[in-house]
Order: sequence, then C-alpha cells, then structure tokens
Amino acid sequence: MKRAEDLDVAGQTVLVRADLNVPLDGSAITDDGRIRASLPTIQDLVRREAAVIVCAHLGRPKGDDYAARAAGGPSLRPVATRLSELLGQPVALADDVAGESARIIAETMDSGEVALLENVRFEPAETSKDDAVRGELAARLAALADLYVGDGFGAMHRKHASVYDVPRLLPHAAGQLVLAEVAVLRQLTTSPARPYVVVLGGAKVSDKLAVIGNLVGKADRLLIAGGMAYTFLAAQGHKVGNSLLETEQIPQVTAVLADAAKAGVEVVLPVDHVVAARFSADAEPETVPGPDVPDGKLGMDIGPATQELFARKLADAKTVFWNGPPGVFEFPAFAAGTRALAEAISRVSGLTVVGGGDSAAAVRQLKMPADAYTHISTGGGASLEYLEGRTLPGLAALEDSS
Ligand code: ADP
Ligand code: MG
Repeated sequence: MKRAEDLDVAGQTVLVRADLNVPLDGSAITDDGRIRASLPTIQDLVRREAAVIVCAHLGRPKGDDYAARAAGGPSLRPVATRLSELLGQPVALADDVAGESARIIAETMDSGEVALLENVRFEPAETSKDDAVRGELAARLAALADLYVGDGFGAMHRKHASVYDVPRLLPHAAGQLVLAEVAVLRQLTTSPARPYVVVLGGAKVSDKLAVIGNLVGKADRLLIAGGMAYTFLAAQGHKVGNSLLETEQIPQVTAVLADAAKAGVEVVLPVDHVVAARFSADAEPETVPGPDVPDGKLGMDIGPATQELFARKLADAKTVFWNGPPGVFEFPAFAAGTRALAEAISRVSGLTVVGGGDSAAAVRQLKMPADAYTHISTGGGASLEYLEGRTLPGLAALEDSS
C-alpha cells in the first residue's frame, strides 16, 4: 500500500477520507478520540503545503433524499469546531457534501488550509448498493481534489462511495492511522501468542453475531457479554426478560456454539446480571444471581460473579482483542462491569487491543492509564472483519495501484 507520506502533495488539493464519527450528546462531542487519531495525517499534509479537504460521516442520517437528511442531521458542525481547535487553524465547513458550496471552497482554498465537507451520509448515494449510483457521487467528490488519502480506518469495511469508489478515480495512498491500525491487526492474525482471548460485547447484535462464527477456530476463548449475550443465553434456554434479543439469530447462535465445542474453543457467557426495569440512566440497578433475567427486567451490565469469571479467563491470556462494552457504561449505575473488564485486560501481559468507537470511548471515560493496552483501535466493525480474514473494500481500493 502506498503511504500518504510518500505522495508529492505540495500545491495539490488532497481529499482525506477520515473517520470522525464521534459519540455526541446533543451537539456536544463526548469523546474526541477519533478526531485526535486523524490529526497526524492532516497535519503532515498541511505541513507539506497541500490544501486538505476532509470527508467524513457522522451517525446515521435518516430520510429518503439529500434534503430530508441534511435537515434532520447530524451536521459535522461540532466536529469542524473541534478539529479547528485541535489543529490550531480555521476549518471551513462546506454547506454540502459535493455540491456548489464544496466546489467553491475547493476552488478558492490555499495551500496549507483545511476544509471539511458536510456529513457524507447526507448523500443517500454514499451507501448505495448500486455501483452507478455510488459512482455519480464518487465523481463529484473526486472532482474536488487532485489526490486521495484513505485514513478512515473505522469505515474501511464499508463499500461506500467515499471509501471504495473515490480512490479508484484519483491517485491514492493510505494515511498514517490506517497504516498503524493494519500493522497491529496483522500481529493478531499472524500466529498470535496463546491463549488468545476475544471479548465481545456492545449493542450491534446482528452485525457481531455474523463475525463470531469466523472467530471460532482463531481464538482459544470467546468471552461474550453486552447486548449479544442475551441471544446466546436464550439459545441455551435461559430467560432473558426484556433484554436485547434477536430471536431470528438463535439458529445461527446454536450452530456457532456447536462449532466452538467441536473446535475446542471455550465460550464463556455471563453467569449473573445487573438488571433494570427500563433503559434509563436513573433506573434502579438490581443484581440478579444466575444466568436468567427476570420477566419485565432488562440486562444492563454483567454482575460481580461474571466480572470475576471473566478476570479469571483473562489472567493467563497472551493475546487479547476486546470489542464492545459488556454493559451500558454511559449510565454510571451500569458501568461497573465495563470498568472491571477494562482493568482485567489492562493486567494482561501480552498484546492487548481494544477496538470499537464506544469501547475506545469507554476506556478513555474510565481514565485508564495511557499504557494500559498495546493499542486502542478506532475501528470496531472494521477490526472485526479484518480479524475474520475478510478483504476490507476500503483497503482493497487503496492497495490497487492501477
Ligand atoms: P463499539 O462501538 O465499541 O463497536 P457497539 O457500538 O457495538 O460497540 O456497542 C456499544 C454500546 O453497547 C454502548 O453504547 C453500550 O451502552 C451498549 N450496550 C452494552 N451492553 C448493553 C446491554 N446489555 N444492553 C443494551 N446495550 C448495551
Ligand atoms: Mg459503536
């Protein structure tokens, strides 16, 4: 893969696809880790006299067309403000993604300046399955710049216009963040030191269930918590109350459990829970012993016995990959399990990688020491798909030198 640092960029306009998909509380950024992780590449391009146009997505805008999505948001405005503060220079925010406003900014900006396009997912074409539809948007984006740098690692697993199609239209290279992420993940996929323990939690149940099957056989132990644990517990005949549950995935989960047993991979599920009557920060937490969640309650966090069990299963690990918080850590009453897990992994001597937007935000919110883990990845889904051995469309497009 060609490196952005090897591109001759002086006097050129460079379109940088970054991952600036930060968690928001209203319009306030609650964790700016992904913006900070994007700085080295942008700063290097600025230093070398490029005009830098940054393209990124934020959240999941809803609506059938551009107008509806742009009206509903979220706008990248707060991200432009934070990026400007961190860079110590103005960042112009275009009013659109690749329309009139973006074109005027691109034509009038000088070397060393930085601009940000509006949320690329305002354009329904960004995520279209239709190559021609994505291609039309990609052509408009490519027309803004001379060169393309792919640095949005967290979006590399998406076959989206700004990730996959634009690099096919412009001379391109990989940014520093992408190169650093790939270097660490390569260590996890090429003969990891064993025991290799994978810890999965979070909320994107069906997304992650799809990858678990492929991790069986690569890891020695799978610790499963968070939202997806309830589909596993239900598959084993436990009651899950009102917890997150994807009933239609139960046959797949059952098959994964059978494959794991055959492969000698240990699957460890929660043995107790912290539950609540409703999904809310001020809901009363209640610890229930045993793997069943009572009727009318929902599982919000792992309980103390599970915290200990997971710590024991991590104690001898030589390699750990963790994606997805084991509880709703954003609510202080349900953050104890995430804290206990973060601490247990920080005690592991060996390669420890934390991946995922919310997981990375969680360890920063917990104020874990800077050296607690080998690497905190900005990518959740992208890291998981890389670990499965799948080709990431964005990486493939950057590798293609034709
Ligand atoms: P990542 O961004 O690290 O890949 P996800 O986006 O999959 O992780 O999931 C993060 C979210 O999962 C957090 O916002 C957290 O509140 C939520 N979560 C964790 N445990 C549960 C649970 N038991 N029920 C509902 N949501 C949960
Ligand atoms: Mg997330």
